[in-house]
Amino acid sequence: MKRVAILGHTGMVGSALVRRLQSEDADVELIGASSKEVDLCNLEQVSTWFKKFKPHYVFVAAARVGGIADNIEYPVEYMGENALIGLHTIMCSAQYGVEKLVYIGSSCLYPAHCIQPMTEEMILTGPFEPTNEGYAIGKLVGMKLAEYYRKEYNSNFITVLPCNLYGPNDDWSESGHVMASLVRKICDAKKNNLGEVVLWGTGNPRREFLHVDDCADACVVALKKYSDGMPLNVGSGEDLTIHELAISIAQAVKYEGKFIFNKSKPDGMQQKLMDVTRLTRLGWEPNISLSKGIKEMIHYYHTLA
Ligand code: GDP
Repeated sequence: MKRVAILGHTGMVGSALVRRLQSEDADVELIGASSKEVDLCNLEQVSTWFKKFKPHYVFVAAARVGGIADNIEYPVEYMGENALIGLHTIMCSAQYGVEKLVYIGSSCLYPAHCIQPMTEEMILTGPFEPTNEGYAIGKLVGMKLAEYYRKEYNSNFITVLPCNLYGPNDDWSESGHVMASLVRKICDAKKNNLGEVVLWGTGNPRREFLHVDDCADACVVALKKYSDGMPLNVGSGEDLTIHELAISIAQAVKYEGKFIFNKSKPDGMQQKLMDVTRLTRLGWEPNISLSKGIKEMIHYYHTLA
C-alpha cells in the first residue's frame, strides 16, 4: 500500500485532490496535513511530520493564496510563507525518501509581458507582474528547488502550473479570486435588485479558468505519467475577458443590470493563457466546461447563503 500525502488537504486544491484520490482504484492510504496539524512554515514541525508518516508520494497543495487585492496588500506573507512551505516540504521529501513529489505552482510564475499562449520554456524570461510579484517569488522557490533536487540528486520531483482555478472550498470573501468574487457580486445584485455591479479594472484582461476537480485530475495524471525538469502547464487552453466572464455569469443567473468598471483597481496581467500541448500529449483533457462550472459556482453560492 502506498501512502500519499496531500499537504494542504483542506484547501481548494488539496480537498479536490482528496476527492480525486478517493475515487482511485489503487490501494492507497491518504494522509492529509492542514495548518492545524503541522505548520509548514516551521521546519522542525515539517521534519517531525515526515518522520512520522514517511509518505511515498507527496502533493504540495498548501500555499498562501488569494486574489489580486490581497496579493498587493500582503506581499511579505505571500512571498515568505510560500517560500518557506516550498523549502520545507521539498527538503523533507528528499530527506525521507519520497518517490515522487508534485509541487503545485501557478501561472503567476510567467513574466508580466509573456508571449501568449505561454509555453513552459517562457518561465523567467522577463520580470514578474508587479501585482503578484511576492507570490510569484515565493512559489518560484519551490519550483526551482524541485528542479534542482531532480538535477543534483535525481529526485523525481515535478512542478505543475495551473491557470486560474475555481470550485468547491473557494474563497468567497473580498480577498478571493475573480470567479468566486464575480459570482458573489452578481448573485447579490440579482437578489437585492441592484441595477449595477462594480467590476475591478477595465474588464479587458483575458483569463483562462479551470474547475479545481479538473486540476486535481491533471495533477494525478502528472504524478503517474510526467517526470521532467520542465514544469507542466495545467489549463483548459481557452481564455475570455473578465467582462465576458461577468456576462456569462449574469446570463446564468438572469441578471439584467449593467457593469461598471472601477479603473482605479488594477488589471494585473493583460492575458494569461497556457499552452497546454505537453499536458494534452499525456492524453489529458478537461471534463467540466466553463458554462457548467459557472452554474455549479452559482449553486454553491446559493447553498452558502
Ligand atoms: P485573481 O484575483 O487571483 O483572480 O487574480 P488575477 O490576477 O487573475 O486577476 C483577476 C482579474 O479580474 C483582474 O483583472 C481584476 O481586476 C479583475 N476583477 C474584476 N473584478 C474583480 C473582483 O471582484 N475580484 C477579483 N479578485 N478580481 C476582479
